[in-house]
Amino acid sequence: MAFKYDPKSLIADEFINDEEIKATLAYAEAHKNDLELVDQILEKARPQKTATGCVCAGLTHREASVLLACEDPEKIKKMYEIAEEIKLAFYGNRIVIFAPLYLSNYCVNGCVYCPYHHINKHIPRKKLTQEEVKAEVIALQDMGHKRLAIEAGEDPVNNPIEYILDCIKTIYSVHHKNGDIRRVNVNIAATTVENYRKLKEAGIGTYILFQETYHKESYLQLHPTGPKHDYNYHTEAMDRAMEGGIDDVGLGVLFGLELYKYEFAGLIMHAEHLEAVHGVGPHTISVPRLKRADDIDPDQFDNGIDDDTFAKITACIRLAVPYTGIIISTRETEAVRARLLNCGVSQVSGGSRTSVGGYAEEERPHDTEQFDVSDQRSLDEVVRWLMENGHIPSFCTACYREGRTGDRFMSLCKSGQILNCCHPNALMTLCEYLVDYASPETKQVGFEMIEKELQRIPNDKVRRIAAENLEHIKNDNRRDFRF
Ligand code: SAM
Repeated sequence: MAFKYDPKSLIADEFINDEEIKATLAYAEAHKNDLELVDQILEKARPQKTATGCVCAGLTHREASVLLACEDPEKIKKMYEIAEEIKLAFYGNRIVIFAPLYLSNYCVNGCVYCPYHHINKHIPRKKLTQEEVKAEVIALQDMGHKRLAIEAGEDPVNNPIEYILDCIKTIYSVHHKNGDIRRVNVNIAATTVENYRKLKEAGIGTYILFQETYHKESYLQLHPTGPKHDYNYHTEAMDRAMEGGIDDVGLGVLFGLELYKYEFAGLIMHAEHLEAVHGVGPHTISVPRLKRADDIDPDQFDNGIDDDTFAKITACIRLAVPYTGIIISTRETEAVRARLLNCGVSQVSGGSRTSVGGYAEEERPHDTEQFDVSDQRSLDEVVRWLMENGHIPSFCTACYREGRTGDRFMSLCKSGQILNCCHPNALMTLCEYLVDYASPETKQVGFEMIEKELQRIPNDKVRRIAAENLEHIKNDNRRDFRF
């Protein structure tokens, strides 16, 4: 049956339309050397100043695909420049920090790239008890984390929604010393509207679900068994999540599974679909690359991408969806992360362990890991490194807790109030981190940065209040201030 492209449709084959993607790739190939067109697209992507702030037009999947196909070195340089311009205009020099928390590696799916697939009989299976969740959260709070992404395999018997909800409740209930987890994002398999509603009621931040691949035929082969085999159910999950009341959703593709240009067009089409149907695009896009793992050899997959292509994809995402955060995990090395931070990335994980129960262990355990962690530095090292490179590590969770989610967050982005709102929030949460958890070297770099960055708050009153709050954090042990 032939499907017609329709971004407003709720049928996966219509909003991620194979024919439209192929036509887009042909159009991009035909126009990649049309440098006049490339310039027009680049100009469209550039942020424009308004009376109250700054706006960005974003790009359609066709326009963005032309940029991705363009091989002209000068134009590629310009893509990176504009990507950074957009990042600075809407997110400033702040980088949000989070950590993944693996709850259970029980899984009934057969995903051929994931070591948790059910045929893997030698990986130890583990599911955290609520006591163990508590121990993990204490370990994460002792590192300084305030924001988590919980991860679990799909297993209706071992990891039913009630188990996930219990874990969320436990995580929010732990307040160890000055620590607390203020935002729990959730990365679990596609589920029902009713379950999404329960997650919303449990107070989750973003619901994250990676598409893995938008190429339906490959998807069916890569997910040969289990509920995840159902491509349409998986691809339509974000619509169900939004119907269930979750308005921050996170997309992602697992790069390395299929041809990257196809994936890129699909990803931007998915963002356009969410905007067309729900009036708000994705809150975040993650860009994971396939990694070595227990019984997974990435070399067995033909579509791996090199670092240059990876950086170009990230920059093109930044240009196409300017109001969407971009996440890079510790799957990548320090060098790759450093490079991507200048291509529009706005969130990074730090000090991550991808094994079930990994944080409470002294030594990094490998037996239940989901993938090899390339950046194995501690959170303290990552925080210091970010600051030494001019980025403000932010532990802020204010928007979500003040109800600034979905389109309300996008409006804040466009209003030009970021420097009077997110910037002081970042400085205050960084200050909490420095006082409670940082090493002496990190403290020194951090307090110097806070002094300097405080002066960049334009509104006198906000700057004064922020300065007072910083003193309260340092001297009176008060916490959790926010604008
Ligand atoms: N089980 C959930 C689902 O089905 O969507 C999500 C949780 S899974 C722990 C998180 C993500 O890890 C997957 O969506 C996949 O993209 C990624 N992943 C799996 N195997 C990987 C590998 N070998 N290298 C890198 N990332 C991998």
